[in-house]
Amino acid sequence: MAAGGGAGAGGGGHQAAAPGPAPGAALALLGAVPGAPSCPHGPALLFVKVSHGREEGRRFYACSACRDRKDCNFFQWEDEKLSEARLAAREEYNRNHQPPFTHRQNVERYENFVLLPLSKRRFCQECQQLLLPAEWGKHSSHQILCDISTAQLRSPSQLLYPLENKKTNAQYLFANRSCQFLLDLIISLGFRRVLCVGTPRLHEMIQSKASQEEDFRVRSLLLDIDFRYSQFYTEDAFCHYNMFNHYFFGGEAVHETCRKFLHQDKDERVIMVTDPPFGGLVEALASSFKKLMAMWKETEKEGYENQEMPMFWIFPYFFESRILDFFPSFSMMDYQVDYDNHALYKHGKTGRRQSPVRIFTNLSPSMIVLPVEEGYRFCVICQRYVSSGNQHCEICDSCTSKDGRQWKHCSLCKKCVKPSWFHCNKCNCCALQNHTCEKTDAGCFVCGKEGHKRSTCPSLSCTRTSCQADKKQRQKTLKRVKIGIHKRLAMKHAIFSRRKIKNKKKKT
Ligand code: SAH
Ligand code: ZN
Ligand code: ZN
Ligand code: ZN
Ligand code: ZN
Repeated sequence: MAAGGGAGAGGGGHQAAAPGPAPGAALALLGAVPGAPSCPHGPALLFVKVSHGREEGRRFYACSACRDRKDCNFFQWEDEKLSEARLAAREEYNRNHQPPFTHRQNVERYENFVLLPLSKRRFCQECQQLLLPAEWGKHSSHQILCDISTAQLRSPSQLLYPLENKKTNAQYLFANRSCQFLLDLIISLGFRRVLCVGTPRLHEMIQSKASQEEDFRVRSLLLDIDFRYSQFYTEDAFCHYNMFNHYFFGGEAVHETCRKFLHQDKDERVIMVTDPPFGGLVEALASSFKKLMAMWKETEKEGYENQEMPMFWIFPYFFESRILDFFPSFSMMDYQVDYDNHALYKHGKTGRRQSPVRIFTNLSPSMIVLPVEEGYRFCVICQRYVSSGNQHCEICDSCTSKDGRQWKHCSLCKKCVKPSWFHCNKCNCCALQNHTCEKTDAGCFVCGKEGHKRSTCPSLSCTRTSCQADKKQRQKTLKRVKIGIHKRLAMKHAIFSRRKIKNKKKKT
């Protein structure tokens, strides 16, 4: 988050005092607090540096959405008093950093766009914008896609970010197989409304079917920070939303759209499906999702009084304990979610690495049927579908593998561990053979408690600094997946300014 980077120009004159990520330090998220100052991405979040279980230094606010201060450099000390002039300047800055068109304007533009003959339908790849003929001149030096077909308009996730830019600017889009699996599952479970939070491709699949197949009765609403999507969807199909601070950019009217959507009729059950950026702060996400759940609950629901809004939270398996901390009713499914633009995480069968991304849900695991033809089987004892390689451990009395490989039971650790691990007597736990032993007498660096290292400290947010402190292994995986620090910031540039999409140096 921007929090890791400290102050910037927009924060106003505190660069020197900024809490830089000193080695060994970690940042803890204190959360969204009432009265927090705002950046262009809505209310900022409160952070503090922690070390050995103690807060160190002053608390400060930083941008909720941006992982790099180059993208949003908002910074303010909690106890900082701002002059009237600076407050006014900030307000103006926030106003100026909103998208060039409103959602309404974009909808009107779209209505005019579809009236154009194919030969006049152009899309500017540099500005990521549908163009009307009067605007062609302004974009004459830009890369333009011509003859935008109705099919292309139905698949904005393919139109946005052209192929040659995929590597740097990609959002992590579901492979068709995974997307279809999710939709089939949702339908077979009897849901008729899908709240898509950061899942534009699932939304697109639903919208596309709804516009083409008469008997297709599923509806969806997309909540996403990527405002480019407002060019393709009306106000009742897309809400500009920040899932790290539960902020609806369009104000109360947009909030109301979401509320209305969550109001389920008797036979129009709602499910929420979310696939947040993996580098994101789990507790910030959890807090927003709880607010969405509360919105669902507020609406009358005959026969569902004591229930939670059903949810699929798509996230890597190594976040299991963090997610369960916030949502004890959730369980992790073995299904491996694949992405189109992640060569490394295509389906495992080809001998490549398998995807570490899973579905966490509060629905009963026994209801989640996984495709046998893709190598999943039903474990009668666990009453759930598991990966074929996931053997039932008699001692643990469950199918214990998290990554699809067969795990082995360690009688000293009293649990199953990865096949590549061995029991280390010095560390008193299982680890890779060539690990460097850590002293066991020292407690967690962050909270001071024993039983875990700082990399898995429950009081920590996965901020940039704490991620740096993580075990190398996990960091590598994170990087390969979709932590998207650099990606997301490239993306934001495309969303919040008309600046040309730049190539960011970092790989994924
Ligand atoms: N697999 C999904 C896309 C997941 S990528 C699919 O194919 O549909 C993460 C998504 O979250 C992107 O759409 C991105 O725009 C969105 N996102 C990133 N940061 C966000 C934020 N702060 N608030 C809301 N949405 C966000
Ligand atoms: Zn911001
Ligand atoms: Zn076991
Ligand atoms: Zn062991
Ligand atoms: Zn050891």
